[in-house]
Amino acid sequence: MAVELQRYNMTPFTNTIACAQQLDQHDPLQGYRDWFFHPTENGHERTYFLGNSLGLQPKQTMASIENVLKQWQQDGVESFFKGDDNWLQFHDKLISPLATITGSLPHEVTVMNQLTVNIHLMMVSFYRPEGRRKKILIESKAFPSDQYAVASFVRHMGFDPDDVIVEINPSQEGVPPTNQEVIDAIHQHGNELALVFLSGVNYYTGQLFDLFSVAKAARKVGALVGFDLAHAVGNVDLRLHDWDVDFACWCSYKYLNAGPGAIAGAFIHEKHHQAEINRLEGWWGVKLNERFLMKKNFISSGNAAAWQLSTSPMLLFACLHASLQIIEKAGWHNMLSKQQKMIEWTDFLLTTLPNNLFKRVTPQQRGCQISLQFQKKGKEVYSRLFEKGFMIDWREPDVIRFAPVPLYNSFTDIWHFFNSLREIINELTLND
Ligand SMILES: *Cc1c(COP(=O)(O)O)cnc(C)c1O
Repeated sequence: MAVELQRYNMTPFTNTIACAQQLDQHDPLQGYRDWFFHPTENGHERTYFLGNSLGLQPKQTMASIENVLKQWQQDGVESFFKGDDNWLQFHDKLISPLATITGSLPHEVTVMNQLTVNIHLMMVSFYRPEGRRKKILIESKAFPSDQYAVASFVRHMGFDPDDVIVEINPSQEGVPPTNQEVIDAIHQHGNELALVFLSGVNYYTGQLFDLFSVAKAARKVGALVGFDLAHAVGNVDLRLHDWDVDFACWCSYKYLNAGPGAIAGAFIHEKHHQAEINRLEGWWGVKLNERFLMKKNFISSGNAAAWQLSTSPMLLFACLHASLQIIEKAGWHNMLSKQQKMIEWTDFLLTTLPNNLFKRVTPQQRGCQISLQFQKKGKEVYSRLFEKGFMIDWREPDVIRFAPVPLYNSFTDIWHFFNSLREIINELTLND
């Protein structure tokens, strides 16, 4: 790891394309750009900064899907048992790279369903209201689907969401709470807290929570803790096992590049595997060698896979496998060290911009994403950037989000983006 980090060591940054190109030359992951399809318009490649929304398609995804189609074509149901790529054990191929990325033990990870479905399944197991202890702490500005999931789940349990869901309100309007505000809220609600459920990286501002300190604070007051890692997985360093997180779930179409509506993942700490636990169950959670005995009683696989309900969706597995193979080949630690350099480069270039139109709402602790909040003319800035070939996103009412990723973006991409942004701001404020 130290070796790779050293490869980026160079003289201090300058706001020049030469500096960007020099960083690219030192980038051990430079070639991975070509492993992905980049969107084009009129034959021109666009610069894609939307890995936080839908990661790009790996070129090998199609072959991976075709492989499943061929297995099905040639062997029908026998494909579940036949060969190295047999469908019954394919799940295990996904587990090992995901365990690396999430800092989990392999048997703590499973691949199943989609994110919001998994939030509900985790709530079944980890929301355990008892006596006075029945509150759930979430962040204000949580992703809407998470809010709906939690609210509808507690209603299903017979509670009024207003009584049990506590939103941590930030001191600063319009952004999520700071890490300290989260910790303070945990202490404040103490023995009334059943569960702390927070995002790892907030989707709106890109803020990275200190999940270790949140998990520790939750444990200290006797609450369980779970994270929605939609914007964190494949983006930031995670140590779910060591941090003693109870559960986590994520989607795989953002930084994991597994395609629209990709199969999602979940982490369940091993301390919960053998315990008597409330869980919704299906035949795919049964131990492999018992699964087809079709017995009356559920015999748990004894690991995170026990939460699986249904037959593996092999076409979706194939997409995730194709993308995880690239991450494995590139090396997760290499991605993190490039990421770090990209963050420094982006932060540096931001300081060179006139900031008479926007303010940065992303705190220092973050992954790829930067969110800029515009006091005025934001939509116009966004449209002009789009016309210049940059794919970024616009969040109502006033935020531009952009997320350069280590696998398929370059330091030069980032430089061009800021150079164009500077030109646009200068044009738009010329007569102010
Ligand atoms: C992207 C995202 C979702 C989307 O949920 P799906 O069930 O995959 O549609 C949910 N929560 C968060 C925090 C997200 O970032």
